[in-house]
Amino acid sequence: MTTVANSLRGLCGGALHLPGDPGYDTARMPWNVTVDQRPAAVAYPADAAEVAAVVRAAAVAGLRVAAQGTGHSAGPLGPLDDVVLLRTSAMTGVTVTGRTARAEAGALWVDVVEQAAPHGLAALHGSSPDVGVVGYTLGGGIGWYARAHGLQCNAVTAVELVTADGTLLRVDAASEPDLFWALRGGGGNFGVVTAVEFDLIPVSRVYAGMLAWDWREAGRVLPAWLDWAATAPAEVTTALRLLQVPAIPQLPAVLHDRQVVAIDGAVLGPAGPDLLAPLRALKPFLDTFDDAPAASLIRLHLDPEGPTPSVSRSALLGDLPAAAVDALLAVAGPGSGSSLLVPAELRQLGGALGRPAPGGGALSALNGSFALFSAGIAATPAMGEAAVADAARVAAAMAPWTTGAYLNFAEERVEASAAFGASALRRLRSIRAAVDPSGLFVANHSI
Ligand SMILES: Cc1cc2nc3c(=O)[nH]c(=O)nc-3n(C[C@H](O)[C@H](O)[C@H](O)COP(=O)(O)OP(=O)(O)OC[C@H]3O[C@@H](n4cnc5c(N)ncnc54)[C@H](O)[C@@H]3O)c2cc1C
Repeated sequence: MTTVANSLRGLCGGALHLPGDPGYDTARMPWNVTVDQRPAAVAYPADAAEVAAVVRAAAVAGLRVAAQGTGHSAGPLGPLDDVVLLRTSAMTGVTVTGRTARAEAGALWVDVVEQAAPHGLAALHGSSPDVGVVGYTLGGGIGWYARAHGLQCNAVTAVELVTADGTLLRVDAASEPDLFWALRGGGGNFGVVTAVEFDLIPVSRVYAGMLAWDWREAGRVLPAWLDWAATAPAEVTTALRLLQVPAIPQLPAVLHDRQVVAIDGAVLGPAGPDLLAPLRALKPFLDTFDDAPAASLIRLHLDPEGPTPSVSRSALLGDLPAAAVDALLAVAGPGSGSSLLVPAELRQLGGALGRPAPGGGALSALNGSFALFSAGIAATPAMGEAAVADAARVAAAMAPWTTGAYLNFAEERVEASAAFGASALRRLRSIRAAVDPSGLFVANHSI
């Protein structure tokens, strides 16, 4: 494929790397460094015109195109031998006008949070500062405001997109209703997004923080949190994690070398202390919940930043009875022998996530009460093997309560039918066939 890809040389002002070029190995490196992606070429366009030029040249050369911002979700892409990896990380502009943000394809969530905060505004970002705005948004997007405000994809008002024929379109509800619907949850199957516009929310302060107990308390804390979550109002969104915390400077010293059950999250409005009271009554050894700047939420969850060797499994789960708690703790709690950094995380769903967003896109709601995520660090091949096996054990144990997949969390290939209802999937496939008839685009999760 290198000979074919040679025809692309010189594009992007020279920021295009072929196998064997000195810059190729750095250029192909994703955020998740366990993934050894070896594309036919890696292109770093500086603007939408350069994106369009790469798309056209790839099609002429008989190559396919995979857009990638950070490579947080590099895992499911698969072999890239005949693919031009189009990396958007040079396109980082973010502007805020009124209550709307416009983020270029390579912008990170931390960039948006920093631009929005001085205006007293917040975005429906997730837990990680260096996840890409576009990849997260195309796949749905759940963060600390999600139960009150729903999925980030449904806050989108317009998308700028280079289609398979190299045309730059501005897609919104009026101009391209089908494509606008598909892009909101249907992922990177429809073109290369060069920028996205979305609504912000008027929030500058939140009641947010983390509670933690020794994980030997999990048998008491997890059922109590599940009971609490069942009736919690939509203004609160939390996550419960079983964590085995290494002693690394990026993580708070109070957690070093401890195995804990932690609950973190945020409350909108004045009810924070009252809402948290039942959880505080469980006597955590750590309690950082307090009034806080909304911008601080971007680092609340202590997600790893920068290139990380990550292995994970995920699922959407329904309500969790006592048998589910027992099953989860057996594979992810004390005595499980799990090697994972995060043997299990449960994100609280429901609220606005549980009902179709008015005028929403392809992913209009999430079919589950919790999103499960298990993750480990694969610093060595042996650690990677153990992490894969331990994460698979968690997924298998929770299979009886699994209601589907949330594609943003899925770092392995999953069937699209696990993420979309039958009629939404049919509509997505028919829109894909219309806008990308030759299957030029390679997405992490294929429609
Ligand atoms: C540490 C960590 C924390 C996370 N936290 C959350 C969270 O709180 N909430 C949540 O919902 N998700 C979360 N995620 C999942 C995250 O949203 C997905 O991994 C998402 O796909 C990442 O987007 P990206 O652009 O950073 O990654 P990439 O791997 O660069 O992109 C993922 C996919 O998005 C598509 N894509 C990206 N850019 C473009 C483009 N310009 N045009 C067309 N398609 C494009 C492609 O199909 C690509 O394969 C987290 C993931 C990690 C690893």
